[in-house]
Amino acid sequence: MRRSDATLFTSRETEGWENDTVELAVRAGLVRQFGSGLFGFTPTGERVRRKLISRIRTAMDGIGGQAISLPNLQYSDVWRQSGRWESFEGEMFTFENREGQAMCLAPSHEEGIVHLVEGTVRSYEDVPCLLYQVERKHRDDHPRNGLLRTKEFTMKDAYSLHATDASLDGWYARVRDAYCRIFDAVGLDFVVVDASNSVMGGSTSEEFVAPVETGSEELVYCQTDGCRVGVTDESPGTTLREGDTCPDCGATLVAGEGIEVGHVFKLGTRYSEPADLTLDTADGSKQLVRMGSYGIGVERLLHTLVEQHGDDDGLRWPVTDHGSVAPYEVSIIPLEYEGDLADAADRIYDACGRDEVLLFDDDDQTIGERFAESDLLGIPRKVILGNSFRETGDVELETRDGETRFVAPEVVSDVVSE
Ligand SMILES: [Zn+2]
Repeated sequence: MRRSDATLFTSRETEGWENDTVELAVRAGLVRQFGSGLFGFTPTGERVRRKLISRIRTAMDGIGGQAISLPNLQYSDVWRQSGRWESFEGEMFTFENREGQAMCLAPSHEEGIVHLVEGTVRSYEDVPCLLYQVERKHRDDHPRNGLLRTKEFTMKDAYSLHATDASLDGWYARVRDAYCRIFDAVGLDFVVVDASNSVMGGSTSEEFVAPVETGSEELVYCQTDGCRVGVTDESPGTTLREGDTCPDCGATLVAGEGIEVGHVFKLGTRYSEPADLTLDTADGSKQLVRMGSYGIGVERLLHTLVEQHGDDDGLRWPVTDHGSVAPYEVSIIPLEYEGDLADAADRIYDACGRDEVLLFDDDDQTIGERFAESDLLGIPRKVILGNSFRETGDVELETRDGETRFVAPEVVSDVVSE
């Protein structure tokens, strides 16, 4: 995209935010606040959000997930049936429609999934299946830390249905592995924490928790690359403490704070039982459906990546074997957008395919301002057409971390797509 065509919300305003991560997200122009616990995404922020969602969808499709979309606006009946109309009280937005019927904005979709499959998933031959959606959820929570806890947020929620506990165990492990791949692919540092005493009900559950400076839970964890050992203050029966030896790799555990970015649950029959959701078995009897439920908070994940990787210059999206989730992969920065420099910049822009490129073509910006803005947005690579281009004909490639090399303009697109 040409910068002259892009609507950027970058800002120098740094005062008044509750923590550094929110401040950075606002300075980089990813989001605008609409009031306590409500944020809107700008074109730049939405590019990042969509990339995250696309990674998540690809991973869920890859393990056999089928995409669905359930209504967020719901009547109270399914919630009364599961007993959660009362237990979610205070956290659920409830109201009456013009006919006086009780309704809510769904904070979660276990009840919805049961209603969706009722009458269609009826036999042991209809399962297992994994259904998922990426939709908004609403919770009347106390907002905190910007995108960490908001009243409206996007969640990838998935639900698996099974005839046997063994089948649930197998699919639970499959989704858990997919989550590890998703978080690795976007460059998140995380550990996996036992959370079997969760309020969602069911037998086994684990949280994916990212260590950060300012989080929402206390965390004791292993810092070894790829080691996933961690416990929170809510982990059941935990004996691991700061300074203990990691049971997996032998390193010393450290204490800090964490953000929960994902959660997997074996729900068992917690939601099928009140709805009497049963399957006909091979021997002609009936048995309750076993369920698993699996969530990833999309905006939380975005917030956590900003928190873990941002620096004084701005956002810094990690680059992995799968690329990055930066709003643009490459920026093209000419010393001035005129004459030969503009021609060369345009040629590179076309060769790189435009969509993932931000071409700094506004004439009211100095090269210093262009550098600062590219770094603030966290664009992983800069293509610089400056004095060395004029002298040697080669352009300078610089990563967000400051590594530089010089290449001929004709090979830039090959080098940046490596
Ligand atoms: Zn370890």
